[in-house]
Amino acid sequence: MHLTRLSLRHFRNLGTQDLEIPPDGVALVGDNAQGKSNFLEAIYYLETFRSFRGAHDPQLVAFDRDVFRIVGALASIEGETREVAAAFQKQGRRKKVTVDGREPDRLGDAVGRLAAVVFSPADVELVSGGPSERRRYLDIVLSLSVRGYLEALQDFNRILARRNASLKDRQPDAVIGAWDDGLVRTAATVMKARADWIRERSPSFREYYAAVSEGAGATMTYRPDIDVDADESEEEMRDAVRDALDRTYERERRQGTTAVGPQRDEVHLRLDEKGDELDLRDYGSGGQRRTAALALRLVEAATVRDVRGQEPIILLDDVFAELDPGRSERILALMEAEETGQVLLTAPKDSDVRIRRDRLPRWRIRDGVIEA
Ligand code: ATP
Ligand code: MG
Repeated sequence: MHLTRLSLRHFRNLGTQDLEIPPDGVALVGDNAQGKSNFLEAIYYLETFRSFRGAHDPQLVAFDRDVFRIVGALASIEGETREVAAAFQKQGRRKKVTVDGREPDRLGDAVGRLAAVVFSPADVELVSGGPSERRRYLDIVLSLSVRGYLEALQDFNRILARRNASLKDRQPDAVIGAWDDGLVRTAATVMKARADWIRERSPSFREYYAAVSEGAGATMTYRPDIDVDADESEEEMRDAVRDALDRTYERERRQGTTAVGPQRDEVHLRLDEKGDELDLRDYGSGGQRRTAALALRLVEAATVRDVRGQEPIILLDDVFAELDPGRSERILALMEAEETGQVLLTAPKDSDVRIRRDRLPRWRIRDGVIEA
């Protein structure tokens, strides 16, 4: 799939624009604060229907407007076409998403149609930040690639919130226990998908990291809060969750909150130097953490490619800014070798546009206005 047209209406500072996007992609060049990241944010909105920068929907509407609307036209190599549209109205906080003009039953059904992956300097937070950053990464990748994951996760979060409320209100045991079957079932589905994906993808995380850093090692491992082995079945995981809930119930009653479960899972990213495993979060240099974050995005792109059977659209938000030239060159080489799909990239300076040097058309952006 690639994006052929993008129509913008009052998304951030981008005003009203209708753009034809070349099949290879474009390089969008402009000074700071002109709207380069906003442009990629609008495109990725059609993938997940939220901001990749963590902004809330009302912030995405142009300051003097009530509604934004984005429409993307997609085409596959076989000539199939599709249209994904999203609109949000501040007043009443109404969001409307359509795929080929039809509203899906659940928003989740429309997620992932674009098959896009964003690389951004803020990705370093995936490595430097707390465990919730890595859980969010996992949740997005798995929602886009594993059928039923998003639904299980949403159900899990809903049940967990209700169970926590019952614990906090010191409800009778039976009221709290009423949530347990649902919690056990959804927690095991979430944990199983996480365990499988990390086991399957950790070799490629290691390879990408090594390729960018000239052979240095790094590992990605699943550290579930409830101790399970990666090769356990979902049934076995259910038993483990139930046992863990039983074991901690007294404590949960005292603390007034659910104390165990996938809401506390961790993904460990470690440097593997001379046999020592050092947590990248604590010991990694800036460049090493950036490299690990890039490796995570490359793994995400590989997952999308495998699951959808097509090249993902790659969105690069000024990503080479803070890497040394050697690392940047090797990342470029990797991307050139792997990503033969559409690339949309932003950079503040022409000299930072290094991918597909001669092929990518240059566009300019000033004060939100894009000139092709
Ligand atoms: P940099 O090179 O610094 O990353 P950029 O070109 O990526 O810059 P963006 O983050 O895309 O910049 O755009 C920032 C600009 O968008 C800000 O100047 C801000 O005023 C404007 N902006 C953000 N949200 C809105 C909004 N809801 N309505 C209008 N303008 C907005
Ligand atoms: Mg930016």
